[in-house]
Amino acid sequence: MRALVTEPGRAHTTRVDDVPEIRALDGEVLVRTLEVGVCGTDREISEGLFGIAPEDEHELVLGHEALGIVERDGHGFTRGDLVTATVRRSCGHCLPCEEESPDSCLTGDYSERGITRLHGYARELVAEDPKQLIAIPRSLGRLGVLAEPTSICERALRHARAIGGRQPWQLERALVIGAGAIGVLTTYLLRLSGVEVVTASLEPRNELVGQSGAQYVSTRDTELPELGTFDLVVEAAGNASLMAQTLGLLRRSGVACLLGIDPRKQRVELDGPTLGVDTILENRVLFGSVNAHRQDWLAAVEHLDATRRRWPDALEQLVGLRVPLDRFEDAFAYRGGKATLVLAD
Ligand code: BGC
Repeated sequence: MRALVTEPGRAHTTRVDDVPEIRALDGEVLVRTLEVGVCGTDREISEGLFGIAPEDEHELVLGHEALGIVERDGHGFTRGDLVTATVRRSCGHCLPCEEESPDSCLTGDYSERGITRLHGYARELVAEDPKQLIAIPRSLGRLGVLAEPTSICERALRHARAIGGRQPWQLERALVIGAGAIGVLTTYLLRLSGVEVVTASLEPRNELVGQSGAQYVSTRDTELPELGTFDLVVEAAGNASLMAQTLGLLRRSGVACLLGIDPRKQRVELDGPTLGVDTILENRVLFGSVNAHRQDWLAAVEHLDATRRRWPDALEQLVGLRVPLDRFEDAFAYRGGKATLVLAD
């Protein structure tokens, strides 16, 4: 069976190769992978900077943004059902994991499909625990491949609302920094709930962002402080200097959420009075969010379908490149939006 494999820790080892056939055990669902999305984490793993192979193996099958089709009836699924699947699995020995919230794991001993200690979905067939599968409605079709990145945005917004909502608060105006898939999807989710959104990025994304009613701003000619202040700022560009600016872009009781990753070894500057005075006197919060709870996956699927109905072209445009598995290098190099690898029609 063909799969996209890599040797974690060794750059430029990613390739399409044969891996052993899969048989579903009792209690598992056999899923044929249709498509997998590619993201910054896949690129990092492929550059040898991240990722861990399963125990006693040195290769990892990539792919954690999956869309698949159920092969056989059983476990509440019917042959032909479209599904995606969660990424992170319990460490087995901490309170959040015991309570089925591995997204909040306290030990770091979790495993993640296609990232850490578990093979991913970029292979023809996968056997999966039915509890980890999420149904994709027919109406969403191939756009179901966006469920995973959307679940990340859903978790971030759920947490931001919980943090903001610890005191009387109104989420009226939000800034999204970065217009890759995470920035654009966050923009759509906020627009669906009526929030005024400014999305700022280096890449020109006028139409993609604008069709949802959000305002697009190019950071080539605008400094972030010129945009005013916000109840919520989401950093999805993966730039630690911008992350350090987010506290200063908040209104009273504002919440800043970091979603992008910036692993570069560097020092960034934080404005003294913003941290030492305003953050305290104005009850501001800065937090980070990773991964997603099952409830975020369910919300993601529902809201992706709502996005498709409301702005019919938006999600199709966001998936800017679909290529067969062999052309994974093109997908990894693509910077125009979401690129996906097509394994089956
Ligand atoms: C994935 C998350 C995962 C994180 C860290 C992200 O790309 O979307 O599910 O938890 O990487 O491994």
